[in-house]
Amino acid sequence: MNFKRKVQIFISLFVVLLSIIFTGFYIHHENQRSDEHKQAVAKDVKDTYDLITEDIEYFYTYRAYSNLRSEDVEEAMLNRDREKLYNLTLPRYKTLREENPYLMLMQFHAPDGKSILRMHRKEVFGDDIASRRPMLQKVHKSHEIQRGFEGGIEGIAYRIVVPFIENSKYIGALEFGVDPDYIMSKLYKSNKIDTLFMLHETHMAAADVLKYPVSYNGYRFSHLGPNHVPLVEAFVKDNPDFTGRLITVGNKEYDVFQIYVQNNDHNPAGMLLCFHDVSSVYKEEMQVIVGSIFLTFLIIAVLVATLEVVFDRIMKKMNFQEEYVATILNSQKNIIVVTNGKNIIYVNNAFYDFLQYKNLDDFRKDHECICYLFETTETENYLQPEMDGMLWTEYLLAHKEMEHKARITVNGKTSIFTVDAQMMKYDRQLRYVVVFSDITQLNELATLDRLTQVANRFEFDKILEYSLSVSRRYKRPLSILLLDIDHFKHINDRFGHLVGDEVLKALSTLLRMQIRKSDVVARWGGEEFMILLPDTPLPSAIKMAEALRQRIEVNSFATVKYLTCSIGVAEFNPVEEADDLFHRADEKLYAAKNAGRNRIMA
Ligand code: GH3
Ligand code: MG
Ligand code: MG
Repeated sequence: MNFKRKVQIFISLFVVLLSIIFTGFYIHHENQRSDEHKQAVAKDVKDTYDLITEDIEYFYTYRAYSNLRSEDVEEAMLNRDREKLYNLTLPRYKTLREENPYLMLMQFHAPDGKSILRMHRKEVFGDDIASRRPMLQKVHKSHEIQRGFEGGIEGIAYRIVVPFIENSKYIGALEFGVDPDYIMSKLYKSNKIDTLFMLHETHMAAADVLKYPVSYNGYRFSHLGPNHVPLVEAFVKDNPDFTGRLITVGNKEYDVFQIYVQNNDHNPAGMLLCFHDVSSVYKEEMQVIVGSIFLTFLIIAVLVATLEVVFDRIMKKMNFQEEYVATILNSQKNIIVVTNGKNIIYVNNAFYDFLQYKNLDDFRKDHECICYLFETTETENYLQPEMDGMLWTEYLLAHKEMEHKARITVNGKTSIFTVDAQMMKYDRQLRYVVVFSDITQLNELATLDRLTQVANRFEFDKILEYSLSVSRRYKRPLSILLLDIDHFKHINDRFGHLVGDEVLKALSTLLRMQIRKSDVVARWGGEEFMILLPDTPLPSAIKMAEALRQRIEVNSFATVKYLTCSIGVAEFNPVEEADDLFHRADEKLYAAKNAGRNRIMA
């Protein structure tokens, strides 16, 4: 994966993370708010409930005392004159029914617990109703108004029982019963919350439980319409403890909560099961999530696209600069290598041209390091992969003042380079820029004789110095031959200088071919040649010299045809210096000339 992709992915992940954090924070905040809202709603419902029930109590207490209680009524109650009581109160009862159709019952009770008159069911009377109705018992005993939910023969009702007392004499009580749906419908009107009422079984009293078959946890629904069934089913499913929860019915979400209600004796009598439609809240939450996802993708798309453009521009610029540098480097004849000392990181075209590789990978397959191509010779101090315990690149930097040479042979052709290195730090890594300048030709000019292409005197001295030290150290024999062409002056005089030159060249070639690989031939002066014979004692040197003399004598040179030479032979004595050795060879040559030429002298 390239750098651009990495940056794009990183930024995308970062945006997603930010989006998750902000959305999560928002939703958490919203949930907190909605929790507070739920609590507020529950409190509202409870307050409204209290208000409604208080209203009911005041309303019917007022009606009982101001509209229904009269001397005649009380007298009829005392006398159990049902007919009179009925006639006296019927108009009022009718009005009350008109005022509130939810009024289920109105009943006169005798202090002994018997029912005097049921306005809603005139034909049933005289039964001992109080024994089955704790609320009535309380009124008969305390002579105080009682209110609350209780079951009765007519079913579950919200009841207000008002005692009639005249001159401290308890005459009886008047009971009103209102259908709980009245309260539920009022709650819906003011709070827009679907509420169901459930009465605890302890308060079912005289009610026929079979009429209220749906029961949970000891509570029975006072009324369960068909539209409420799915809500209740969803609420009670896997909810044995009947705890408040969120439910989904159809495409709506409800927050379901309960409010326990007490009768005025402070006994918990029932509960309001409230279904708060919170679909809009959840819809809003979903909208926020969808919106946030959309926004996240939009931001990512914009950022990724921007990066794409910006990166491409930068890359173009960088590519241009890279090409710029590559062009400069490739225009160089010198080989330029960027390396960490071992591995090659970059090279210019001159590298490929010289080493004859098409690309770096191929080169790397064959060579671990360019330094393993460095060759050594006995006489020159060429660069090596490791020197003085340092990597070659470190060595180059440590000895900047010196000239460093490397020798590399490719396909049998040996090249000599001067090597320079610069260090650069890249990404906390060391890199060396190494420049190899080919000085093969310069080197040849400096070490070979121009005309004959054998070693010059300078080069010979260098090689001899090394050979003498080896000879001394290892006690190896060493000899030299000093060869001089006989009467060369005559050749020049007779055939001209140019022919003389050709003779010198031909003789050089002949000499090179006759000697061993370890021997060195050098042009010592005009028509004199010095031949170094390492590991050669005098007798072998004499044999060698004689063989050379004979070979030259029988050779047919162009134009001049016939040629002889004289050779002085000397073996190195470890106690003497090079000049002494030369001197002795010279003497022997001189002697050979004097003795008539075309001979060797040792
Ligand atoms: P001898 O047998 O005593 O050695 O006689 P010689 O003529 O070879 O010796 P001498 O030293 O008198 O002459 C050497 C001649 O070699 C003189 C010079 O012109 C010639 N010579 C030296 N260098 C060159 C060269 O590079 N090219 C040519 N053509 N001639 C050269
Ligand atoms: Mg000479
Ligand atoms: Mg000569």
